[in-house]
Parts: sequence; C-alpha cells; structure tokens
Amino acid sequence: MELKDRVALVTGGAQGIGRTIAEELAGLGAHVVLADINGEGAESAAEKIRAAGQKASGVRLDVSCAQDVQSVFDGIIKEHKPLDILVNNAGITRDGLMIRMKEDDWNRVLDINLKGSFLCAQQAAKQMMKQKKGAIVNIASIVGVMGNFGQANYSASKAGVIGLTKTLAREVASRGITVNAVAPGFIDTEMTRVLDEGVRQKLIEQIPLARLGEPEDIARSVAFLVSDRASYITGQVINVNGGMLM
Ligand code: NAP
Repeated sequence: MELKDRVALVTGGAQGIGRTIAEELAGLGAHVVLADINGEGAESAAEKIRAAGQKASGVRLDVSCAQDVQSVFDGIIKEHKPLDILVNNAGITRDGLMIRMKEDDWNRVLDINLKGSFLCAQQAAKQMMKQKKGAIVNIASIVGVMGNFGQANYSASKAGVIGLTKTLAREVASRGITVNAVAPGFIDTEMTRVLDEGVRQKLIEQIPLARLGEPEDIARSVAFLVSDRASYITGQVINVNGGMLM
C-alpha cells in the first residue's frame, strides 16, 4: 500500500487511460478523486473502485474552466485534506490539416489539454507548497515530441504540456514537489479506436514492440512517478511508446 492515506486527483478519470490510472492509484491505497467533464461517468468509475474495497469519489469538472477547477480543489480540502497527487490526464483531439483547421478546433484543444493542465497544476501546487510535498504528473504525448500529420493543435498542446512540466518542476522543486510528464505512444482507448484498421496496422508497423499500448502501460509508469521510489525524479518526460520514438 505504497500510496496509503494519499489523496490523488485524476482528471479525465471517467474512461480510458485516466480511469485506469485512478484504478491503479486506488489499488496502491490512495483515495482517488476522479474528475471528468462526464460527471456521471466519473462517479460510476469511482463506484466500481469502491465496490472493490478501495477509496474513490467522482466529480464533474471541466478542466478548461478556472471557476470549476477552483471549486473542485476547494472541495477536496474540505472533504479530505490537501492534495498529495495530481494527474493531469484530461485531453481531447480535434484533428485536421493545419491549412484547413478551424480556429474553434485549435482553441478547444489548447484550452483543455494545455490551459486545463496549467489551471489544475496551479491549484495543486498552491496546496502542495504548504505541505512541502506532492507529485504532479502531466500526460503529454509522443506527438508533442515528434509532431503528427493532421494534429497541429494537439501536438502543439502536448509540446506545451512538456514545457509547462519542466518550468513547474523548476519552480516547486525547493518545496519538495516533483513534476514529470508521461508521453504515451499510441494506446488502445476510445481516442484511437476512431482510427480505421489500415491506419492502425501502419502504426503498429512503426512500433518495435509491435502492438498498441494498453492503458495499464501508462498507469504503471504514473504510479511509479508519484510514489516515494521516484522522489529524485523531476522535470522528466518518460516515453512509454513501445520503442516508437527512441
Ligand atoms: P479518452 O478515452 O478520450 O478519455 C479522455 C477523458 O477526458 C474522457 O472521459 C473525456 O470526457 C474527458 N474530458 C474531455 N474533456 C474534458 C474536460 N474539459 N475536462 C475534464 N475532462 C474532460 O482519452 P484517452 O485515450 O484515455 O487519453 C487520456 C490522455 O492521454 C489524454 O490527455 C490524451 O491526449 C493522452 N494520450 C492518449 C493517447 C492514446 O493513444 N490514447 C496517446 C498519447 C496521449 P468525454 O469523453 O465526455 O469528452
């Protein structure tokens, strides 16, 4: 029970990678707050964790809305205690070639993936600085490092998340807080199930380990980074991509 008595917030926790991260952290003893724009989904995922005898609660949160973020973080202090762990996982795609990309699609992706991570990290850092401990993990992406056809908005947002991670890591290190990013390759979730079979096969051909990743591959890396075993690791980007980018 490495994370016993720790309070963790996982954004975008209703499904996919976020939900699996929440299950992993709860399994290690943390009380996990699953926060998602789909509040019912978050609560139903939390209910399943509680049914397994672990601690979790679900809450509706739009990470791109500063007021929402403030009230969820205030609620965590009121109901539990200051936050120990934040996982900035909520993210969306709105793909299209850059020359045809609509301003709305640019703004929405940047608002959720990058501004949302900033807003949550800012609130978490305020709580963690008082306690002089804490761990933040931001979920970036392989395409934030290498770019990707049709994903100008998404890859820019994830490159931004990497810059945010390194800056915040420097700003809060003296308070005993670590900040890292996990950059997944292509993971089998709703986000990638929209790809047609031909595209999936082409992707798999580029992955030395010859498969898409599973949400568990990401969840285990996050669990390590927020544990005391990783207390000397900060400002890093951990690539979890089957060797697709070396
Ligand atoms: P997913 O299955 O689409 O899950 C994302 C969750 O975030 C959904 O529950 C979604 O709710 C929620 N969400 C969307 N907008 C939100 C907002 N404004 N505030 C709070 N929650 C919001 O995606 P995933 O594949 O698990 O991806 C999780 C993270 O990993 C994302 O940051 C993604 O960019 C990153 N990632 C994924 C892959 C991959 O291959 N899957 C690769 C690299 C990085 P709704 O469904 O109701 O919108």
